[in-house]
Amino acid sequence: MSKFWVRASYNLQNVGGTVRKHKLIVAGDRFNRLIVLGECGISNSGKRLFSCLCDCGTNAVVVGGNLNSGTTGSCGCLNSEITSTRCTTHGLADTGIYFIWRALISRCNNPKNKGFKNYGGRGIKVSDHWLKFENFFEDMGYKPEGKSLDRVDNDGDYSVENCRWATRKEQANNRRKNLPKITLDGVTLSIGDWANRLKLNPASVRNRLRKGVTDPNKLLSTSRLPNKTLTGALQC
Ligand SMILES: [Zn+2]
Repeated sequence: MSKFWVRASYNLQNVGGTVRKHKLIVAGDRFNRLIVLGECGISNSGKRLFSCLCDCGTNAVVVGGNLNSGTTGSCGCLNSEITSTRCTTHGLADTGIYFIWRALISRCNNPKNKGFKNYGGRGIKVSDHWLKFENFFEDMGYKPEGKSLDRVDNDGDYSVENCRWATRKEQANNRRKNLPKITLDGVTLSIGDWANRLKLNPASVRNRLRKGVTDPNKLLSTSRLPNKTLTGALQC
């Protein structure tokens, strides 16, 4: 019985291998760290060649069969990383750094980007130094697992001085730290402290701030809060 199953899975793999071998490679296909840009010629031995962009930002020309078989999955940076000590601390989850960079450039510089209004539209820029991917990569390296790029000053630019890799929690803490304190009747407290004291939902107060409300009475008003939102009062 066990022999049968071993054979069955072996055959399945073979079938899969055959199918994959003839799979069409088109621009935009991803093979590990490589994104196919397009076909770019025939090798001396008659194999089809594809121009690819590696996540690390390097261009590479790769034999199509090696993409499909998984033999080649990067410009070469993957292998050198595996053999370097860097690999032991960062592992292979740190792909996509090039796309992180491309996305932040787009958010700040391309008015057609969905997020532009919150970035470029708000005057947030990418430092001149970081307009070149190699500089960004040299400053920030690969993205550590579980973290994302965070601007320490939320109104500041994308620059080495203002950016770090941070967990979601660290980013949320940071955003709260940057929020102004509110003074009402001569008492100045953080939003979290006001929320606790007045049994408010701190998220509602933050929302009002974001909408431009400045009157402390309106900011800390309880009148429009349905009871059930009060359960979130201790989150801030
Ligand atoms: Zn690479």
